Amino acid sequence: MRSEETKLKSLALRLGADLVGITTRDILADGPPSADPRYLLPSANSVISLAVSLDKDSLQDFICKKSWEPHCHDRKAIAKRLYTIGDALAETLRADGYDAVNVDLNNNYRPEESAADLTEMTEFHPDFSHRYGALAAGIGRLGWSGNLLTREYGARVELGSVLTSAALTPDASIPDEDHPCDKCKMCSRVCPVEMIHPKASMQVTVAGITETLSRKQSNTRCWIGCTGYEGLAPSGTWSNWSPYRLGRPLPGEKEALDALCIRLQKADPQMQGPDNSFSNYRQAVFDPEWFYYTVCGFCRSVCAPRREERLANRKLIINSGTAALKLDGSHVVAEADACEMATPYGLRVVVPRGELTKKPKKIRRWPGQFPLDREVIRYLRREAASSGENCIAD
Ligand code: SF4
Ligand code: SF4
Repeated sequence: MRSEETKLKSLALRLGADLVGITTRDILADGPPSADPRYLLPSANSVISLAVSLDKDSLQDFICKKSWEPHCHDRKAIAKRLYTIGDALAETLRADGYDAVNVDLNNNYRPEESAADLTEMTEFHPDFSHRYGALAAGIGRLGWSGNLLTREYGARVELGSVLTSAALTPDASIPDEDHPCDKCKMCSRVCPVEMIHPKASMQVTVAGITETLSRKQSNTRCWIGCTGYEGLAPSGTWSNWSPYRLGRPLPGEKEALDALCIRLQKADPQMQGPDNSFSNYRQAVFDPEWFYYTVCGFCRSVCAPRREERLANRKLIINSGTAALKLDGSHVVAEADACEMATPYGLRVVVPRGELTKKPKKIRRWPGQFPLDREVIRYLRREAASSGENCIAD
């Protein structure tokens, strides 16, 4: 007769997981609070960790700015797959008499005392950390970037986790001699907001493993870069896929950075809607109309399994140019004469020159309806109509 572990792993692989591993609550007990599965499932004894690899072709096109949307679509398809696999595992476990929770894939953070709502959050500690679960379950190890690195795909994976009261047999973690991170530091070189320090380090211990990572800065720094409030690298020669600019260096102090992030989030139309992906990520992922707006993740995207690939990926990124917002909602590579224009959202936006003098076309349904892009486009059109200008000055 097949063991429970074999049955669950076979099911996960059959439904499209690339990697699956098991760990236990006891093994995770030495980790940070977000390694504790009992926060979501008080009866939890075990964790099934899942990984699905990103599509390599669309990811390469994304990092060299050949095309933006295919990688966004791939991330959405993978999220749907991970939810589906997790649901099937949880249903199987419940049918066998156990408790089970399929952990939300993203955007679920533990309440913060000083934050009245999401717009005031600055720490972003997840209910359960998929990375810690995957580390303990032998799926990968934490790299310098803090991302989970697998031997098979590097950091180019999406993760999921199922918590259960079943006492499952754990898998072995990856030993130090097989650690996939060689400290090449390419992740530090491709972060437009310099979140990943190239030299200063810190340590984190989970599952008896002590990982040495880049020194952690305020999470709001990554939030600013990854949400897209600032996409431009300090060199000014390349950006992620965000067309937005803060127009000044980011503050170095945590308090000032957190305050800036809160201001930006409060002004961001994305944060105001009751049905945004932050209130219900699963619902967003299964909504056929929802566009998985992705502008960064470069620290993960650069990190392929082989060092030569990582060096090449870094070159692709820093030679990819900068992003601009077209008024149909698409993101494109900015030409040298692109305009940088003020918006009412505390951000400036880069727009191809001549966009505002074109006869307005209907905004494409997707991705033109991403709330911040959509409102900025409406604002620019109104301003252009009233000023008759091609580029709007401050
Ligand atoms: S890019 Fe290099 S240093 Fe950074 S996590 Fe990957 S392997 Fe480690
Ligand atoms: S996701 Fe982007 S902004 Fe955040 S740490 Fe990675 S490269 Fe930097």
